[in-house]
Amino acid sequence: MNNDIQQLISQQHQFFYTNQTKEISFRIAQLKKLKQLLEEYQKAMYDAIQADFGKSEFETFLSELVLVYDEINYFIKHIHKLSRRKKVSSGIFNFPARSYIIPEPLGTTLVIGAWNYPYQLSLIPALTSLAAGNTVILKPSELPTHTSAVIAHIINDNFPEEYFHVVEGGIETTTQLLSEPFDKIFFTGSTTVGRIVYTAAAKHLTPVTLELGGKSPVFVLKDANIKKTAQRLIWGKFLNAGQTCVAPDYIWVDQAIELQLTEALKEALQHYPSHYMSTCQNYVQIINLKNFDRLASLIEPEKVCYGGVLDRENRFISPTLMRGVLPTDKVMQEEIFGPILPILSFKTLNEAIEMVKQGDKPLACYIYSEDKPLINKILTEISFGGGAINDSLMHLTNNHLPFGGVGNSGIGSYHGKAGFDTFSHYKSILHKGIGFEIPFRYMPYSLEKLKWLKRLLGVK
Ligand code: NAD
Repeated sequence: MNNDIQQLISQQHQFFYTNQTKEISFRIAQLKKLKQLLEEYQKAMYDAIQADFGKSEFETFLSELVLVYDEINYFIKHIHKLSRRKKVSSGIFNFPARSYIIPEPLGTTLVIGAWNYPYQLSLIPALTSLAAGNTVILKPSELPTHTSAVIAHIINDNFPEEYFHVVEGGIETTTQLLSEPFDKIFFTGSTTVGRIVYTAAAKHLTPVTLELGGKSPVFVLKDANIKKTAQRLIWGKFLNAGQTCVAPDYIWVDQAIELQLTEALKEALQHYPSHYMSTCQNYVQIINLKNFDRLASLIEPEKVCYGGVLDRENRFISPTLMRGVLPTDKVMQEEIFGPILPILSFKTLNEAIEMVKQGDKPLACYIYSEDKPLINKILTEISFGGGAINDSLMHLTNNHLPFGGVGNSGIGSYHGKAGFDTFSHYKSILHKGIGFEIPFRYMPYSLEKLKWLKRLLGVK
């Protein structure tokens, strides 16, 4: 295996140096080909994800393929502009000259995906890297075995391995990949494994982007529109049964409206299943028993005010609300990553903000309110990756907004131009003529020259 991986990387290096991937027409053709393949194989993709954790065609399209197609379309449309040289000022010291920045691909890149949105989390970084002109080795998560296999099948049967190849496998395979020198590693997954990736990359000084997780808070303020808040919160939380990196992890609500909000949240859950039904295809299963047991241990039955139905055989946990939760409770000590929504209430907004600030910087934060000063207070005082006001999750569907974490929730960002930047190097060039110049910098130095230099900079 080790030799196979080394050979694959070496082939990709060689292919990169043929310069074919630098042609814009080549890149566009590959993106169009990928789009066509995804259309062709859509039935196989839906069947695979259904087999892995019961995700329906509708939800797969809505939460995965829409984003993949949108990114492909974005790059096909904008790739000429993104990869063009950009002229910049040459500054007074270089007059006369031209200065420009050349976006260039990094080379051979490694993309490691997470399991929870197995298509978009693998394919979007991979296609972004291709759009920026790199070669790609993609390692999807091994947990959803069927989706990993279908991704490998689509890519490996249709793209040359020296350009774009999927390597399937778990920790052992990833460890082998990480021991090799890449020109870029893009990792999506947990903060714990993110540290392993960062350490391995440091050995080769490989640049990394780490898309990690964390506890994303929701603030519901006194003036919030309760019905809309409940509807958007419930959708964002229970999509993918809460197995979403930017899912609202817990709610901080003003105690004056806590009861009202709780009732509205229950009301908004009426279309969700209360027990496992093999025919219910719009509420997914928990990915595996390990995660099922971890989630089950976070539920304190006496605090459950809605749901709490556990069916281990079918890896089903019904949408669960917990009330009267305290920051010291077990459910508040780790990223939940499942269908459990704790509700905490505050007397003063400051106490809620302080509690969030004591933890790691979240990947996302949501604020439900129309009170501009209070919204700005939260935006100013809490550092987090990105978020939404009066909505949940939807910020990540706007590819004009860079998507990524900060601190323990990640390093770097992607989506749209941010993704292109992530997979590019910006080469800076000063282009001088050999004619006229102001000879400030050459010997002999003189007080007169020093005076002029200082004057140029406004220095006495
Ligand atoms: P994970 O870290 O367990 O796995 C991610 C990848 O790392 C997989 O491909 C896996 O094979 C590999 N891996 C696992 N253990 C490894 C090890 N010891 N050495 C080397 N490689 C290893 O994460 P997960 O369970 O797939 O995903 C859940 C986490 O990912 C959550 O914390 C979630 O918030 C986060 N996440 C973040 C984003 C984001 O965009 N920021 C998106 C999805 C998930």
